[in-house]
Amino acid sequence: MPDAAGQSQAFQADVAKLLHLMVHSVYSDRDIFLRELLSNAADACEQLRYVALADSALAFSPFAVRISIDKDAQTLAFEDNGIGMSQQDLTDHLGTIARSGTRAFLDRFGNGAEEAWGADAREKLELIGQFGIGFYSAFMVADRVDVFTRRAGATEAFHWSSDGRGTFSIQPPAQGEAPVQGTRVVLHLNEESKNYLEPGRIERLVHEHSSALAVPIELVEEKGARRLTDGVALWTKPKAAINLDEYTNFYQSLGGVFDEPALTMHWHAEGRHDYTVLAFVPGSRPFDLFDSSRPGRAKLYVRHVLIKEDAEIVPRWLRFVRLVIDSADLPLNVSRETIQESPVFASIKKAVTNRVLQELTKLAESDKEKFAKIWEHFGSVLKEGLYEDPEKRDALFGLARFATSAHSAGGRGLKDYMEGLQTNQTAIYYLLGEDLARLSASPQLEGFRARGIEVLLLPDPVDAFWVATAVGFDGKPFKSVTQGAADINSIPLKENLDAGAAEEAPPVAGLATLYALMKQVLGEAVEAVRVSDRLSSSPACLVASDRGPDRRLERILAESGRLGPASKPVLEINPAHPLIRALAARIGAPDKGKFEDIVWLLFDEARLMEGEKPADAPHFAARLTRILLDAASQPAP
Ligand code: ADP
Ligand code: MG
Repeated sequence: MPDAAGQSQAFQADVAKLLHLMVHSVYSDRDIFLRELLSNAADACEQLRYVALADSALAFSPFAVRISIDKDAQTLAFEDNGIGMSQQDLTDHLGTIARSGTRAFLDRFGNGAEEAWGADAREKLELIGQFGIGFYSAFMVADRVDVFTRRAGATEAFHWSSDGRGTFSIQPPAQGEAPVQGTRVVLHLNEESKNYLEPGRIERLVHEHSSALAVPIELVEEKGARRLTDGVALWTKPKAAINLDEYTNFYQSLGGVFDEPALTMHWHAEGRHDYTVLAFVPGSRPFDLFDSSRPGRAKLYVRHVLIKEDAEIVPRWLRFVRLVIDSADLPLNVSRETIQESPVFASIKKAVTNRVLQELTKLAESDKEKFAKIWEHFGSVLKEGLYEDPEKRDALFGLARFATSAHSAGGRGLKDYMEGLQTNQTAIYYLLGEDLARLSASPQLEGFRARGIEVLLLPDPVDAFWVATAVGFDGKPFKSVTQGAADINSIPLKENLDAGAAEEAPPVAGLATLYALMKQVLGEAVEAVRVSDRLSSSPACLVASDRGPDRRLERILAESGRLGPASKPVLEINPAHPLIRALAARIGAPDKGKFEDIVWLLFDEARLMEGEKPADAPHFAARLTRILLDAASQPAP
């Protein structure tokens, strides 16, 4: 029962925090509240449309949302004839925070929030848009909000009221205050927000942000009532009747974002199944893209009735795509779960996925720059498909873009790579690592560069997974340049290379002995010490043994606890390097300690180049100091 006295209840602590932010925010642009309240009103209508399917007792009149401006009372009201709220609904939905986006927003800005607001206004607005503050945004423009509501099918109505400062009350409304069915939200505009009483402003904002809502919007003001939008769902209109702005508005209200879509796809499928899809690739990366609990981003309609807000239509590796799908063949009178299990649904999902992939492929060919942006934002998500969905691997390989040893700026496709293949080249070479700059400077690449062999540089965490499972591309296997012997001797060196470094090293007597001695010094730290054909200017590098996994993959697995201790690396030596030659010349010299210091430092230097730490920091420091002291003590020339 409602509390007759309308005793005040405290907001959940998080809501109070959020409201504090709303009330104290100093926006130049607060327009966002309008879109949020209109979308809630439209949602309420769509919900009633859905529950009425199963409950014939719930009748509804044609849906509409009415915005009323009352200049005398200085209020702006939003009334819908949708599902309405019970007393419990009011407490649950307007007293707590259930939205994951709002929670994420608070986690980020809830503490020391005032400082966060110091950022420039546009940025803040975009942030709120990304997180979706929803109903509470009303408190940006109002110093009191009244909600009068009656749940569909109920006789009782309620009046929720709050000034947004910590508490709210729920009481029975006065006679005639509540709508017959649905909800009226009344904003008592604050001093800075009186300009929302201008009908022209409201009209413009509705057209800008909410024109594609599937419920008509009316405006009531001094001069009477008029319709601002037709309430015809955008996707049901023919493509030719929709302009770019309308698509953009729709995308923005769909995702609660302010960017422009990078790609808009709108098609109607007939034949085996009848459905319409309107899909967007966002122009920026959603903040929760890598949140594993992130729900699907597809709105599923059956004959214009919204069945599910967060359906999974496309696979995880296309989760950045926002879409609306409206099907004419799915059964309307069954539960959401049953629909999603139906074979028709499965077959539609497959077709939609194929189509989206096809559109991306088309764009990759027709507009390289536009596609490059998409790849920059979502490439790491698309690459998940390479190991999750072997059936789509070829199509995804067609889309994949890489930075390579020859093109560090990126944008190289595998097709480009294949065209640059060297004679006798038997594999597609890659190098895994953490960051592109370091990868590009890796000593392991030297021998490949010297032979004109392009190497894919893979700095993304997902890369380690797909290269481990991919069988190959266009008949060539993928091969890590840090694993096993390089086997690139049969590929000739390019003549035009700076000759000195790349030239065949004149044989130095005792190299074999040197390697054996080095192995003796390093002992269990390495599996072997051997000559390398992948180096040209560095003295040494570390690679995985022929049997072991790639070292980067090994590190990732070890970090995630899925693998025991790392296997031993192989230290590869560049026999042409002056340091190695000098070292070979020292064999048999009396100061054995110095030889050992140099060997360990060489090993640690190779580790550093891999992005690893020296094997034993105190020893490393002591050795380095000894060698430096020795160098510094040499008489100045
Ligand atoms: P969201 O719309 O993302 O769920 P909001 O903060 O905008 O979050 O709204 C919170 C909840 O309040 C809604 O989910 C809904 O249950 C309820 N609500 C808000 N406005 C209305 C309305 N006009 N009619 C019915 N319920 C509403
Ligand atoms: Mg909302």
